[in-house]
Amino acid sequence: MARYTEAVCRQCRREGQKLFLKGDRCYTGKCAIECRSGNPGQHGQGRSKNSEYGLQLREKQKAKRYYGVLEKQFRSYYDLAERRPGQAGQNLLAILESRLDNVIYRLGFAMSRAEARQLVTHGHFTVNGRKVNIPSYLVKPGMVITLKDSSRSLEKIKSSVEANAFRQPPKWLEYDANNMVAKVVGVPERDDIDLPIEEHLIVELYSK
Ligand code: SF4
Repeated sequence: MARYTEAVCRQCRREGQKLFLKGDRCYTGKCAIECRSGNPGQHGQGRSKNSEYGLQLREKQKAKRYYGVLEKQFRSYYDLAERRPGQAGQNLLAILESRLDNVIYRLGFAMSRAEARQLVTHGHFTVNGRKVNIPSYLVKPGMVITLKDSSRSLEKIKSSVEANAFRQPPKWLEYDANNMVAKVVGVPERDDIDLPIEEHLIVELYSK
């Protein structure tokens, strides 16, 4: 499975903002964005790209990094978003939000999307009663996502659930915390997505 190999915090430094890719660490003073200024790399301090294209490119890169998606897959999501009725940018974000790894993160089973991806890959969740270990699996309304009984005692999951107990899942997910079961009851809408992404810039980039 292809994945980002660039140092995780470097991705945030490149975007000049916290992307919360490392879970707990992102909320501490050890966060690289708080400790180090400027772009990463030898010529980072002098690098700046404020052209229209540069802004569009950075917005796309930022969205890819938030969700941990590589270019080819991101582009295929965009093509799918364009084919759906409505605005391509919002459709794109809705598709990214519907990835199973993102859903697991949103439900609070993991401290980051990367951690959620690993949990899915290791087969800790079922969808409609069947094990699904594909992080990019897209959930749809009516689907039921369950943490497997045998995975409930996993320390990593227990500590994430505890730390995220205050977090409310988005309204398109109905979550039963006692049974650790969630039902998809809608599609993600723009105001359900709390990420500072200007999706119109991504649409402009791909429409060139
Ligand atoms: Fe980004 Fe988290 Fe690293 Fe900070 S600690 S730079 S938010 S990944």
